[in-house]
Amino acid sequence: MAIPTVDTDFVLACLEDLLRLDVDWIPSEAGTSLYIRPFIFATDTVLGVRSSSRYSLMIILSPSGAYYAGGLKPTSIYVEDHYVRAVRGGIGAAKTGGNYAASVKSQQQATESSYDQVLWLDGIERRYIEEVGAMNVFFVRDGELITPQLTGSILPGITRRSVIEIANAEGFTVREEQITIEDLIAGMKDGSITEGFGSGTAAVISPIGSLTYDGETVFFGKDKQSGPVALRLYQILTGIQYGAVEDRFGWVHRVK
Ligand SMILES: *Cc1c(COP(=O)(O)O)cnc(C)c1O
Repeated sequence: MAIPTVDTDFVLACLEDLLRLDVDWIPSEAGTSLYIRPFIFATDTVLGVRSSSRYSLMIILSPSGAYYAGGLKPTSIYVEDHYVRAVRGGIGAAKTGGNYAASVKSQQQATESSYDQVLWLDGIERRYIEEVGAMNVFFVRDGELITPQLTGSILPGITRRSVIEIANAEGFTVREEQITIEDLIAGMKDGSITEGFGSGTAAVISPIGSLTYDGETVFFGKDKQSGPVALRLYQILTGIQYGAVEDRFGWVHRVK
């Protein structure tokens, strides 16, 4: 985005100050969290298309209720084969507002048709799986974990990376590869692909219940429950966040 990088230690120190100030707003019940959203925007006082010489960096804190009140709930997904979220060489790998702007129309139509989210395909062939909603996506194939390879149009999420590291530590083989929608649907039908789930900071893990592609709906399991791999990864990652599971990775940062 042609924005200069910020000093990580300085921003972390600012965040710690803010957290100490707002400590009474941090919810403590199971499943709740404090959502932390840093953002940066240009503040040069000009009209024009060029990079800015001045920016404001801000951090919003928002107490957030339990995402899954009644356990992990599988979602219905519409495979978007008309609109695209991002293309290679574009800005899909950046956490930037323009990417959400490109996705709202598709999400609105999916919601109107009673789907929870859309699955994004690549912008050139409309064939390769990229992401689900504003989450990275994983599938369980023959007991191994597969996820789309980062080709430039996919956001490299921190939850994606955490899931890969936890899965490796738990003895899973994780493959980052290009997955076609045809192979995915075929694998769901012949039983080789048994689970799918999204990964992102807010929902952590969001199991996929069904995919609708080209007028046909295919389901993962019939009991409307999360698959075992998604559930296990969810329990380990949230367990580390709540201090209930030992942090083998050095991810927990204590604020005093
Ligand atoms: C935020 C986001 C993700 C998830 O990233 P995390 O760092 O895991 O929260 C994935 N895809 C898109 C498009 C996103 O905007």
